[in-house]
Amino acid sequence: TIRTRFAPSPTGYLHLGGARTALFSWAFARHHKGTFILRIEDTDLERSTPEAVQAILDGMQWLGLEHDEGPFYQTKRFDRYKEVIAQMLQNGTAYYCYSTPEEVEQMREIAKAKGLKPKYDGTWRPETGKTLPPIPEGRKPVVRFKNPTEGVVSWDDMLKGTITIDNQELDDLIIARQDGTPTYNFCVVVDDWDMQITHVIRGDDHVNNTPRQINILKALNAPLPIYGHVPMILGPDGQKLSKRHGAVSVMQYDSDGYLSDAMVNYLARLGWSHGDDEIFTREQIIEWFDGNHMSKSAAQWDPKKLNWVNAHYIKQLDDESLVAAVAPRIQARGGDTSIVDLKAVLALFKERAETLEQLANDAMLFCSPFKAADSELLAQFVTPEARLLVNDFAQAADNLAQWTSEELARIIKETLAKHNAKMPALGIPLRLLVTGQKQTPAVDQVLAIMGKDTVLSRLKA
Ligand code: GLU
Repeated sequence: TIRTRFAPSPTGYLHLGGARTALFSWAFARHHKGTFILRIEDTDLERSTPEAVQAILDGMQWLGLEHDEGPFYQTKRFDRYKEVIAQMLQNGTAYYCYSTPEEVEQMREIAKAKGLKPKYDGTWRPETGKTLPPIPEGRKPVVRFKNPTEGVVSWDDMLKGTITIDNQELDDLIIARQDGTPTYNFCVVVDDWDMQITHVIRGDDHVNNTPRQINILKALNAPLPIYGHVPMILGPDGQKLSKRHGAVSVMQYDSDGYLSDAMVNYLARLGWSHGDDEIFTREQIIEWFDGNHMSKSAAQWDPKKLNWVNAHYIKQLDDESLVAAVAPRIQARGGDTSIVDLKAVLALFKERAETLEQLANDAMLFCSPFKAADSELLAQFVTPEARLLVNDFAQAADNLAQWTSEELARIIKETLAKHNAKMPALGIPLRLLVTGQKQTPAVDQVLAIMGKDTVLSRLKA
């Protein structure tokens, strides 16, 4: 059965690139009814923080990318890594190296001067018939992997096709430091092996690690997973994602009023396609995400398209869900959601809303205490002539049997006809007097939602 993993390093929040990689791993596992594993690669003790772990968990939860196993923490697996290192020292696939960092630096310089790839020169690498130098007293060794010196290492990447690297190009990787702690690539290998990962889907910034990891897996007689390296996400300007364009926590999108479904839909399309489809549910992503049609080239972040997708999902929300999603945002602005029919308010705005935040801003018109328009505006638009129209309208409104937008639209028209005036002559004064604002959605609908008492008392005032 298929087993995939998402293996973030908790050195910061879950950003878009990470979220997209996680989504692909998750969708691929779900498609194959496999297992999705969350692994926290927290061996970099200086840069890993509990806050970052929490931010990753929050981000995954918000996106609905639930894991079946884990989270596993590498820092809790040190004994296991040490066990494997001991085995490798025992069976000769790894060796102690007593060269100092300065010596290794020199070796690299010498190789470079000869026009060779800078690497460790193998001083401490055991070979049959070779005598190793005497162990310098008091010096603590690192452990190096005995990388094959001949042949190639090759794999069929899910995205990039066959990649082949000459073993000559690869160094004898340090797998344990002087203090005995295992190094990054080694932990990943042991984990992928122990967790029986069948498909490693990750960012293509790891392509260089893959041949090293494959060689170690081979030395361990471990089965090789299939690798898929996903290209990075570029900003709208074609450059590396910047803070302004998406290089922020996915949770920022939650606070900015994007729906989780929209985010997942948009991220799925970023580097993967299913025909010309732009909108798909989670179920459809799972149904169609078979590991094909991932894009070989970098995807470009497009905030406008994200807004378009989000607007689509906002329109899809039923009234109750929309109210539940927007009410807390209105309250956070100090708005009172109890003084108005919020469903009706949101229905008025939702067709052209791109984010929930925008909806909350719009709805504040109805949820905040009345603030009179400033006197200059009033003087400009509520002229003596305008007052005549407003008076006539108010009288007709008072007599309305049904307080609906249709009825209100009818009496607005009648008032305009009677005075031979155009819409703004009444529309603007009504808006200013009733809402305190010059621009609002259709005035008949606004007045309908405001209610008869409020409208008439504000007009009188
Ligand atoms: N921890 C690595 C990262 O955050 C991912 C390693 C992997 O997927 O193999 O970039």
